[in-house]
Amino acid sequence: MMRNRVLGKTGIPVSPFCFGTLTMGPGQANLSLKDGRDLIAFALECGVNFFDTAELYGTYEYLDSRALPGLDGAVIASRSFAATRKDMAKSLDLARKSMHRDVVDVFGLHQQESGLTLKGHRDAIEFLAEAKFRGWIRAIMVSTHHVACVRAVSLMDEVDVIFAILNLEGLGIRDGTRQDMEEALAFASSCGKGVYIMKALGGGHLYARAREALEYVRDLPFVSSVAVGVKSRAEVLFACSVLSGGEVPRAVEAETRSAPRRVVVEDWCAGCGECAKVCGFGAITLVAGKAAVDPAKCMLCGYCARTCPDFSIKVL
Ligand code: SF4
Ligand code: SF4
Repeated sequence: MMRNRVLGKTGIPVSPFCFGTLTMGPGQANLSLKDGRDLIAFALECGVNFFDTAELYGTYEYLDSRALPGLDGAVIASRSFAATRKDMAKSLDLARKSMHRDVVDVFGLHQQESGLTLKGHRDAIEFLAEAKFRGWIRAIMVSTHHVACVRAVSLMDEVDVIFAILNLEGLGIRDGTRQDMEEALAFASSCGKGVYIMKALGGGHLYARAREALEYVRDLPFVSSVAVGVKSRAEVLFACSVLSGGEVPRAVEAETRSAPRRVVVEDWCAGCGECAKVCGFGAITLVAGKAAVDPAKCMLCGYCARTCPDFSIKVL
C-alpha cells in the first residue's frame, strides 16, 4: 500500500515512488508507445500517482492523458532548459499540448548549478510565476546535481520544489559530499520546499545494492518521493515495494536482479573520455566525439556510470 506524502508547502500529495520516464524513452529502453503506456497504466494500478519527465527525454507521448485517462488525477513533473520568458512559454505549451493536460502540476528549470545560473534564468522564472498564477502549473521546480543550487533555491520564494541528486555513495554530486547534500536538502525542506530525489541508484552503479540504496533515500525525513527510471513491471513492483516500506516479493527481486542489462550512452555525452580511462575491459572508445561501447567487451561492471560527471553513460 503506497501512502502518499505531501510535496513541501505545495500541498500536493505524491506517492513515495515517482515513476521516472527517461528509462523507457527513445534514448534508452525505447519502449513502443503501447508498451510504455501499458507500463504507466500498471503503475497507476499499483497506486503510483507521481510521474517525472522532461522536455529533453522525449517521453511526453507516453503520458498522454487522452490515451490514458487514468493520468488525469496524477501529478506530472517536467522541466526544460529554457532561459527566457519566450522559450519557457514555448516549453510549457509543448508539455501541455503533448500530454493533453490543462495543468502540468510541477514545471520548471532543468539542471541548474548555482545562484548565478538561476539569476541567468530570471526571465523564465518570472514566466513560470505567471503560469502558476494563471493555473497552468501548480508549482515551480528546479532540478540540480549541485549543493550550491539547493542552497540558493532554498531562499527563493518563487521556487516550490527541488529535484536533487542523492545516493548512498554521493555519486554525481558535483560540488560536495553526500552529507553536504543531505544538509542542504534538510535546510530546503525546513524552508518549505518539496524535495524529491534523482539517481538513487547512481546511474545503475548501485544496482547490486538496489534495495539498500532505495531504503537510504526513502528514510530521509525531508524526502517526499524518489524518482526511479523503470522499463518493466518487475522494476515498477520493486520500486513500489521498497519505497512504500513493504515486503519485496522474492520473484520480483529475482526478476529485477536477473534482468538483462546493457550500457547506454546519452545524446548529451560531451566526449571527455573519462569513462574510457576507467573501463578496465577496453570496451569504450570515442567515436565522433561521443563514447561508444562495444557490448562484446563490456562486463557491465558499472565503473563508467560511476565516473561520468553528467550520467551520460548508464547501466540499464
Ligand atoms: S559518457 Fe560521460 S565520461 Fe564518457 S565521454 Fe561521455 S561525458 Fe565523458
Ligand atoms: S560497464 Fe564496465 S566494462 Fe562496461 S563499458 Fe562500463 S566500465 Fe567498461
